[in-house]
Amino acid sequence: MGFQTLTILGSTGSIGKNTLDVVSRHPTKFKIFALTGNTQVDLLFEQCIRFKPRYALMVDPIAAQKLEQRLKPIGLKIEVLSGSKDLDLLASHSDVDTVMASIVGAAGLSSCLAAARAGKRLLLANKEALVVGGHLFLSQVKSGNAKLLPIDSEHSAIFQSLPEDPSTWEERIEKIILTASGGPFKARDPNTLHQVTPEEACRHPNWVMGQKISVDSATMMNKCLEVIEAHYLFGLDPQKIEVLIHPQSIVHSMVQYKDTSVVAQLGTPDMRVPIAYGLGWPERIESGAGQLNFQNTLPMTFEDFDSNQHRDRFPGLLLAWEVLRAQPGSTGVLNAANEIAVESFLSRKIKFTQIHEVNLRTLEQYAPGPVESLDDLLILDAHSRQAARRVVEVLAKG
Ligand code: NAD
Ligand code: MG
Repeated sequence: MGFQTLTILGSTGSIGKNTLDVVSRHPTKFKIFALTGNTQVDLLFEQCIRFKPRYALMVDPIAAQKLEQRLKPIGLKIEVLSGSKDLDLLASHSDVDTVMASIVGAAGLSSCLAAARAGKRLLLANKEALVVGGHLFLSQVKSGNAKLLPIDSEHSAIFQSLPEDPSTWEERIEKIILTASGGPFKARDPNTLHQVTPEEACRHPNWVMGQKISVDSATMMNKCLEVIEAHYLFGLDPQKIEVLIHPQSIVHSMVQYKDTSVVAQLGTPDMRVPIAYGLGWPERIESGAGQLNFQNTLPMTFEDFDSNQHRDRFPGLLLAWEVLRAQPGSTGVLNAANEIAVESFLSRKIKFTQIHEVNLRTLEQYAPGPVESLDDLLILDAHSRQAARRVVEVLAKG
């Protein structure tokens, strides 16, 4: 077999860097076609020198200019692009086999849809794109004959625990159980959560990740987005999706079958494992992760989400089932509100506990509209962001 050519959307992020780490272990299997970043010139420059892509894109035009200037004297044939429009081109180019979608937030939606329409092997880390895109995303995967492989560790675990033929899933599966570490505040008194700082919220006990997903893990909005993601990926009724707190992050998720058997995937908390699975599928390739050592990881514990005040501590999680029951489009509204709320918390405009308030109040204002096309979804996203910003202003005035 020849090379798999790869576009990494968001190569300067945590998932992007882990993807390049796995790729670097297999120089005869993968060739980098394009790398993209937002503003981090130094890092994208280093990645260009090391992986020699045909294209490098920086969303920020000034950053793109700087990258071009730094690459020029080196004499590598790398075309530098700028702005977000060409992300779609790099995701759908006929010379690309595989697209790693690892941009954070709804900013990655358009390029995910472009890769899906073009029939790529689409490795999806960018859960927000599926939460916003919902049915349109899946219909483009189907019409483009793309292969959608989950990278989120829980969804990769479920995918690995399911039978190969999706037409059997509905009939054979009793439920899927998404595990959640509970993040840094699993045992914290809910009455003190309003004092949480961005630094505390970003310090996850088991994973090193980008800022947005770290805050989402601390509020458990990450698990809320993952319930919605699982609903779309596996076509399961939301009532068949459960969440179980598992602080050690070793059991990455489970499938319970009709005969009561439970099949799970286990591993060290290292994103290179699901990334290598997606890159290698259906083969298994080296990931670089350390072996699981049971002596060091035991005991493994599990806690019901409903117990120990978790509902008070993490009110956002339950919104997943609410928005999936509500009007189509509600998942996109929630995602947009949450992106603004997290950004506002990180810039210290609102308190940690107000993230949930922004989400709730923005959802309350939602007047359902069409969600049939990318344009519909982008309009909905923009309106919801405006609404969320207004809520933030009110809360910030106190
Ligand atoms: P990150 O913040 O570390 O990286 C984000 C990447 O997106 C960067 O390359 C950045 O340059 C790019 N980006 C940011 N804004 C952009 C914009 N407006 N347009 C284009 N590019 C932009 O984030 P991450 O932790 O790598 O997460 C990426 C995605 O993967 C998220 O959707 C996250 O939920 C998901 N995910 C991450 C992990 C993890 O361990 N980090 C695990 C599971 C899922
Ligand atoms: Mg996850």
